[in-house]
Amino acid sequence: MSKRNFLINTLRKKCPRCQEGDLFIKPFDISKPVNMPEKCPVCNQKFEPEPGFYYGSMFLSYIVTAFFFLAVIGTCIIVFKMSLNASMAVLLIIALLTYFFFLRMSRSLWINIMVPYDPKAKEHKNPQSF
Ligand SMILES: [Zn+2]
Repeated sequence: MSKRNFLINTLRKKCPRCQEGDLFIKPFDISKPVNMPEKCPVCNQKFEPEPGFYYGSMFLSYIVTAFFFLAVIGTCIIVFKMSLNASMAVLLIIALLTYFFFLRMSRSLWINIMVPYDPKAKEHKNPQSF
């Protein structure tokens, strides 16, 4: 299979190395929102290569959600001519609804930045930290 686009692979929450294994255990369990298998079931890529690996994803999450929330507030005020208080209420609801989406997406984005695609990952299947 040919290499998939980096952003599409991130959005599909697939293993960055083989682009086939799922990053998160299905079905979604609200008590364990970032429930990931220890290794990729397809290529054995470790999903937490070192302790605290996902601290970096917090900064990505912060940046991505800040711009997203700014866009929501801007749309409410400029396009829909809402008051600031009403816009904040809309933002609060949207923030609650997208919380788990951004939580998982920032982890997916982080590991997709840190781990390169390997077209032969499935063949040798040996564990690789990075
Ligand atoms: Zn994999």
